[in-house]
Amino acid sequence: MTHKVVVIGAGVVGLTAALYLLEKGHDVTMVAKNIPGDIDIEYTSIFAGANWMSFAQDDEIFYQELDRPGYGYFMNLARNEPQSGVHIIPHHCYFRKSQLVNGKVPYAWYVKESFVENVRYLEKSELPSNEDEDDEFVAGVSFDTVTISTNIYLHYLLQKIYALGGTLKRKTIKHIDDAYNLHHSGEKAEIVVNCSGLLSRFLGGVEDEKSYPIRGQILLIRNSAKKQLFLTTPGFKDESLYIFPRKEGGSIVGGTFIPNQWSGVVDPELAKRMIARAKKYLPELVDPKLGNDPEIDVYRYTVGLRPGREGGPRIERVGSIIHNYGIAGSGYQASIGLSQLVVRFAEEFFNRSKL
Ligand SMILES: Cc1cc2nc3c(=O)[nH]c(=O)nc-3n(C[C@H](O)[C@H](O)[C@H](O)COP(=O)(O)OP(=O)(O)OC[C@H]3O[C@@H](n4cnc5c(N)ncnc54)[C@H](O)[C@@H]3O)c2cc1C
Repeated sequence: MTHKVVVIGAGVVGLTAALYLLEKGHDVTMVAKNIPGDIDIEYTSIFAGANWMSFAQDDEIFYQELDRPGYGYFMNLARNEPQSGVHIIPHHCYFRKSQLVNGKVPYAWYVKESFVENVRYLEKSELPSNEDEDDEFVAGVSFDTVTISTNIYLHYLLQKIYALGGTLKRKTIKHIDDAYNLHHSGEKAEIVVNCSGLLSRFLGGVEDEKSYPIRGQILLIRNSAKKQLFLTTPGFKDESLYIFPRKEGGSIVGGTFIPNQWSGVVDPELAKRMIARAKKYLPELVDPKLGNDPEIDVYRYTVGLRPGREGGPRIERVGSIIHNYGIAGSGYQASIGLSQLVVRFAEEFFNRSKL
């Protein structure tokens, strides 16, 4: 049976939830202050890398389960839906001596399980040379993952939503209860799905003080590479280096994970460090033989705010409201797992209402 649903938010979390609800046959209106195409510090989804590389620790089964379905979903899009802006690329993760735990390399759960495709432990000769640093690289692993070109993928989701009869209204909602009256049919929505991201802190009726920003500075560059890269940057708290080349060429370079900083202002010294690291650890970016400029060619210096939340994301149903926000740095990779939960909570509610 078709039910009327309003989804607040058109970031990757709201768009994916809306799509999953439409695929179940529901009648969905999305309402959002910012929509695909916008570049606004309040709209996190446009700033993401975005790749699949679960942050879940070995004992964080709930987070592993949120991330798992996204891997196969995005790999499938890369193979079968070129218009999605997703492509498959090997990821190289390097470990330093200081990262060893009891002398062992702390490989992630998805590597140890060979959950991801083409896991390969790297030879010493494949690690970046860093004799000039105290903390040498001692190990590395490669596996296949995706880079999602966020601007293309968000539009792709929206097109799928429109094709299934979903609608989108640009509007700022002051109080969550107002959302019930915004269904495109003019009738009251039966369920509201709150995918307001970081702004859940300010949405009336929610005002979640546990929501906080995790600041990430990024560079968008025209230089391309044949692999993704992740490594730590000792001596620089809250910094690391990641580089995700995109399908259409160019790459995103990060980054920082600085909690509780709301500033969208680019730190120029940090930007210089990021450029120097990109050249040092992934020299193919500036290799003319690969068609690259001999310098890092930055086309945007910017900052995004990940929707952090003390205690983790809020994914629960309270009466006829399903909350789905606060997914921090995992909004793309967890978007499928979260949407599956939204559908389950919605079905539970609709079935209860029938009794
Ligand atoms: C630098 C950086 C790198 C990242 N890299 C990755 C990565 O590699 N992989 C990954 O999985 N994730 C990554 N992320 C995280 C990912 O971007 C976020 O988890 C995700 O974008 C959150 O999506 P969202 O839909 O919850 O929030 P948002 O994209 O912020 O969307 C929130 C929506 O709610 C709307 N809204 C809020 N309040 C209201 C209101 N009152 N009325 C109407 N509308 C409202 C907004 O307008 C917007 O449409 C990264 C993030 C950053 C910043």
